[in-house]
Amino acid sequence: MNTTLPDHDFHNKWGTILGVTELDQRPLATALWKEYWKDPINVERNYDKILARYTDEFVAFFKGILPISFHGHGTDAMSPTTIASMFLRLAIFAKQSDPDAIIISTPEDRPSAIEQLGWNAAQVGNPQWAVVKDSYAAGFGPLATLSAQPAFRDITTGAGATSLQLVNRTKQELSERLRTARQEGCIGVIVEIVNNQYSGRVTTPAEMSKLSEACAENGLLLVVDETVTSIRCGAPFAHQRPEYGGMRPPDLVIFGKALAVSGIGINFEGSVARRLGISTNKHRRQAILNWQTCVTQAVQTPVLINALGVLEMAKAGDWVRRSRVIGEHLRETVRSRAGSMFDGLEESEIFGGLGSFLFVKIEVSGIFLVMGASNAGPWVRWVRWLPRMDEHMTSRSTVESILGPASLPHRRERARQLAVQELRPEWCFWCGNHAQNQVLDWCRECCIHVCNTEECSAQLIAHKCLTE
Ligand SMILES: [Zn+2]
Ligand SMILES: [Zn+2]
Repeated sequence: MNTTLPDHDFHNKWGTILGVTELDQRPLATALWKEYWKDPINVERNYDKILARYTDEFVAFFKGILPISFHGHGTDAMSPTTIASMFLRLAIFAKQSDPDAIIISTPEDRPSAIEQLGWNAAQVGNPQWAVVKDSYAAGFGPLATLSAQPAFRDITTGAGATSLQLVNRTKQELSERLRTARQEGCIGVIVEIVNNQYSGRVTTPAEMSKLSEACAENGLLLVVDETVTSIRCGAPFAHQRPEYGGMRPPDLVIFGKALAVSGIGINFEGSVARRLGISTNKHRRQAILNWQTCVTQAVQTPVLINALGVLEMAKAGDWVRRSRVIGEHLRETVRSRAGSMFDGLEESEIFGGLGSFLFVKIEVSGIFLVMGASNAGPWVRWVRWLPRMDEHMTSRSTVESILGPASLPHRRERARQLAVQELRPEWCFWCGNHAQNQVLDWCRECCIHVCNTEECSAQLIAHKCLTE
């Protein structure tokens, strides 16, 4: 069976697989892959050119935001000490008379960079983040302290982070809160457009505008975490949707997952980044290279080629437009099928998220026998749907068939393939966690399985198989 056929996997490895129907529309990446397979040394010799080409594509796709730093995981990219060092380095670089020269350190460099950034001693010595409440939280490190998951809070390290309430706060209240946080070492605020921990609530344009003003007033970095929301929320980055046009531009954007590489994007027009005075395109490219070369190779070549391929495919298939269409099809189909379940309920009690990043109430998601992705834990009654941006998903009838009995032939065939390989469906059809139940047998008709919890086990036993 063709692996590009539509199927009921809305998990896609936590959203890291964004599309497969454009695999033959990434000429640059494909040519580099072939060459790398034959002669890796020659491709490595061209590394600088490949990185420059990737940067060109990234800047064009993400409207002027430059990829400055690459990391193994989004959480690593958000380390406050890493980002504080990066800004010190940029401030020192900006004053160099010859930007191509290797930095020659003078005794004035550090104090003058700190002054340029307007940072106090706590911000340099003990940099921390404020994070919008109920929004992003890490699985480890200082930001794990804000996680809804107790097992993550248990391994919190470092200075922690400030939880910032954004809902129902005036700009003055936000600004005052941030002024206090700044004295304790806060260097900026991390916010998500789609709050990922609970119900997928969307941060409103008014909230983003207030937050961006409060950050600017206090000289704090505004960081938008777009690890999950890039491309699939109806804009290159979700904060670039037209309704957010009134906010000040963020200084940094964290990317990862679907882009095939994690890292930090910088917007030199951000309120803090502007203080660096790096204003021409040429100077900006020199600046990001300066940071990249300070940590040996910025990103490994095969990862870079893969990431380049994702941008080529996203452009060729217009995945941004598709994300709006696919999200709409999914919502409409769910609404029409779930019928009376919605009676008396507000839209926000059924769906969260934006575009093709959907949060669906667990009892509603469950009736469609698809594989979604869990979030902070079993007490969160929402499942995330992270469908692929494949071409066939833009057809309403295809989406309807996946969510209904017409998917049965595909499901049976998928189940047969899995059985041959001694595999099982990977994700619990009810809660979206790993489907590792060893007691129950999985359903080879619907191609679904469950995790170990009592609730999900009962749902597998009780489910009615799809019938043609
Ligand atoms: Zn489960
Ligand atoms: Zn079944």
